[in-house]
Amino acid sequence: MGVFDPIIELSKGLGETLRSFLTEKTVTYQYPEEKRPVRPRFRGRHVLKRYDNGLEKCIGCSLCAAACPADAIFVEASENTDDKRFSPGERYASTYEINMLRCIYCGFCEDACPTEAIVLGDNYELSFTSREQAIYGKDMLLEPVASENMLTPRKVEVGIYTRSVPEMQDPRD
Ligand code: SF4
Ligand code: SF4
Repeated sequence: MGVFDPIIELSKGLGETLRSFLTEKTVTYQYPEEKRPVRPRFRGRHVLKRYDNGLEKCIGCSLCAAACPADAIFVEASENTDDKRFSPGERYASTYEINMLRCIYCGFCEDACPTEAIVLGDNYELSFTSREQAIYGKDMLLEPVASENMLTPRKVEVGIYTRSVPEMQDPRD
């Protein structure tokens, strides 16, 4: 190796950097101001969905917890009344927790849910500094409402929300 070889190699490297700087499009995202779009099938932080009228889709059936291979979900159900209604049907989830340290984002909970209540969204901003903070409760998971009169629980007309699992479109249609 000649004495000038390292300088030549270094110049080649710097030349390549200069070329890409001048001719190629910038691919760096200025996170957190600018967020990288996720793929259509990306599975991120869970969201507990509501119906358009604000009632919670979750009926506390625990099928998501049963399907979870990481034992990350804990659900406790309680009874709805028309004076204090959270969701359609008999029961709602009075406790719903996901341990994000255990979750492997497989999506089995989403697949198992009969009301499409639990959904893995596109939010990838998960950070915590203790084990306790890694347990996301219902207050963190539940979708926000558009207005105050859509909040749950609320008083509803007697006997109109008796069916807990809505009619769903046949996927073969
Ligand atoms: S995504 Fe998978 S591991 Fe995470 S809570 Fe759902 S079923 Fe469990
Ligand atoms: S999220 Fe779905 S599967 Fe889980 S308890 Fe609620 S209704 Fe049942």
